[in-house]
Amino acid sequence: MGIKISLEKCIGCSLCVRACALNAITVADKKAAIDTAKCNLCAACVEACKKYQAITITKETSSKINVNDYANVAVFIEQHGGKVAGVSFEMLGEGRKLADQLGEKLVAVLLGSGMAEAAGDLVKYGADKVVYFDSPELAMFRDDTYAALMCEFVDSDKPAILLAGATAVGRSFIPKVAARVWGGLTADCTKLDIDTERRLLLGTRPAFGGNLMATIIAPHHRPQIATVRHKVMKAAARDDGRIGDIVVKKVDASKIAERTKILDFVREVESTVNITEADIIVSGGRGMGKAENFELIRGLAEALGGAVGASRAAVDAGWIPYSHQVGQTGKTVCPKLYIACGISGSVQHMAGMQSSDYIIAINKDPAADIFQIANLGLVGDALQVLPELTRAFKERG
Ligand SMILES: Cc1cc2nc3c(=O)[nH]c(=O)nc-3n(C[C@H](O)[C@H](O)[C@H](O)COP(=O)(O)OP(=O)(O)OC[C@H]3O[C@@H](n4cnc5c(N)ncnc54)[C@H](O)[C@@H]3O)c2cc1C
Repeated sequence: MGIKISLEKCIGCSLCVRACALNAITVADKKAAIDTAKCNLCAACVEACKKYQAITITKETSSKINVNDYANVAVFIEQHGGKVAGVSFEMLGEGRKLADQLGEKLVAVLLGSGMAEAAGDLVKYGADKVVYFDSPELAMFRDDTYAALMCEFVDSDKPAILLAGATAVGRSFIPKVAARVWGGLTADCTKLDIDTERRLLLGTRPAFGGNLMATIIAPHHRPQIATVRHKVMKAAARDDGRIGDIVVKKVDASKIAERTKILDFVREVESTVNITEADIIVSGGRGMGKAENFELIRGLAEALGGAVGASRAAVDAGWIPYSHQVGQTGKTVCPKLYIACGISGSVQHMAGMQSSDYIIAINKDPAADIFQIANLGLVGDALQVLPELTRAFKERG
């Protein structure tokens, strides 16, 4: 993409200067000039200059991409402090499935320092090949550096598909990669599949506030890139019998970004249970009636050694802090057991828990939507059922 000002059409009115939030435009001698280093091609100036049509943004066509040059599925392996993040095992599991559907290879891309053993282990979790960029400069995430090296990988290996977790890290640098390599990015996917006839990635994600699911394709761009929510896909299982290639890459000093420096790493101390890691979650909704009744939810969670979740209605009512909210605007969870108490089962709530292994719903309305995805449904008053359940579990030890 590029931006141009027609000096013939420009009258130096400064409307574009006022429209530009990045202060990228100046007017001198009645002619506007754009600092392209500052411009992010948002097109606000084009809109402001509608009357004179002096500013145009030109889009290159993607014809420079020959989609047939690209093959295989690549997965970005996120790591923190030298430990592979859980979301990456989910990406490996999903990537393996897509690669098998296409009859192609799964390539894991790891950026880190002193992680040779972890790189080798990625083969055991499904990768056919691991590309490992090893440098002390990569020990901690820096988006410019990671983006530059990921672009280097895309240019050399030409993967048809690239997956990454929709985490703070993935969301930060993957869009840069997509823009630079002319990839087609679908962010925040909750489901991936392959159109086997056209050999295209189908990236499904919630749209319009979660009221419908949109499936997006990128037929003219490569790689087809998707960021995927944590805990939505099943993690790959370890298979010690698997073998694959490990390619250790040297890091070119010119790829190390100098714009940012890591001064310190401060771990956030969480005062509440991290529900995304819990195996058992007992969740309460508006049907619990009031904040005090959440004690019944806590009681059962404690008896089961689980964590406490909540619907947005319960959070909005101030009965429990937001950190416990499950759903589209809360956390996505995938426990072995999810017990939904007094929760109706809105699409937004279900988007955050429907991939739980086993779902029990307690609701006094037999027609509640939550029963459609529940493995076990109890039609009844949660205020009466919960103390009984807690007592029964405590008795069993
Ligand atoms: C953009 C957007 C994002 C959203 N994000 C989220 C999100 O992240 N998470 C989320 O949860 N919601 C989210 N919502 C809100 C969502 O649409 C619902 O409003 C919300 O999930 C409803 O919560 P609830 O099931 O607790 O309440 P309700 O829908 O009011 O359901 C209460 C249920 O309790 C039952 N009940 C009542 N009394 C009892 C009793 N004594 N015993 C047993 N059952 C009883 C009722 O039959 C009913 O089914 C979002 C909405 C929008 C528009």
